[in-house]
Amino acid sequence: MKKEFEPQIIVFCCNWCSYGAADLAGSLRMSYPPNVKIIRVPCSGRVDPLLILTALELGIDGVLVTGCRKGECHYVDGNYRAEERVNFLKMLIENLELEPDRLEIHFMSASEPDVFAESAAAFTETIRKLGPNPLRGRLKKARKAGVDKKRKMLAEMARTVAKIRRIEPLNLGEIEAIEEFAEVYVDPDRCDGCGACGIVCDYNAIEFTQLDGRKMLEYKPEECVLCGVCIDSCPNKAMAIKNRLSLGSVVSGEAITQTTLQMRKCRLCGKYFIPDRLAESLMEKTKVTEALDYCPNCRVYLSAKKLIGVFEKKLKN
Ligand code: SF4
Ligand code: SF4
Repeated sequence: MKKEFEPQIIVFCCNWCSYGAADLAGSLRMSYPPNVKIIRVPCSGRVDPLLILTALELGIDGVLVTGCRKGECHYVDGNYRAEERVNFLKMLIENLELEPDRLEIHFMSASEPDVFAESAAAFTETIRKLGPNPLRGRLKKARKAGVDKKRKMLAEMARTVAKIRRIEPLNLGEIEAIEEFAEVYVDPDRCDGCGACGIVCDYNAIEFTQLDGRKMLEYKPEECVLCGVCIDSCPNKAMAIKNRLSLGSVVSGEAITQTTLQMRKCRLCGKYFIPDRLAESLMEKTKVTEALDYCPNCRVYLSAKKLIGVFEKKLKN
């Protein structure tokens, strides 16, 4: 006889409410499915999105986050933050073709053992209907997390899921993201290609490339730790943080071209050497016009030539 599928479920329980509810349910001998494995956390807001993703990636069939009723969080807004994260992760996994119902958040108080028992039973039933997590058995060991590695881990996980589900990264667009997975956005109308942001970024998340007389600012969301240093360094206030995550770029590992600028050619050697817009704004600020028609090498050459001319004239006199 075929064995019935028994889902493996993790329930994150907040110390101040649902853990108490679960405890009370046990003391009152209220029955709830033995499939649920409880992990006690100081607050539902403490459940890092990576913990949830790791559980799913390791093959857990369903993850239930439980927190205090709205307006009753011991730390004011932990449960709201948890809800934001869960909603974000549901959208993320749905885009990666994993059922979003594998993840839920429920709210209750410590004096509601019946709510805990019902939540656990209803969620187990939902997961039973969905069947086994297709990622089960693919990853043997959880990846090591780290605060500045959060995005990298999310990228690795998204890549694993996309590979298993055979999803073409180009088909993954961008999704609305919570603060911790937001991205840096560059306003193409304000950026003049000065390069300051690329210099100050310690994480190689911003790079500049040049091709056919154009300069491109490339941004890698996977590398960015959202430190904000580039935003402060931008003289044109062209950078900001936007609550979006470019899933396609994260999965493919390819950079996003944020802005493309036309380069100026040196009048003497013909090499492209400065973005047109940067040259114009420098000319406006310094009132020096002709110098920015020549690249630095040719400027040195022309100055030297001029000086030699002056000396020769003096020597002749
Ligand atoms: S926010 Fe920080 S890590 Fe991200 S691109 Fe800017 S400087 Fe680099
Ligand atoms: S985004 Fe700002 S700092 Fe970066 S190249 Fe453009 S103008 Fe310069």
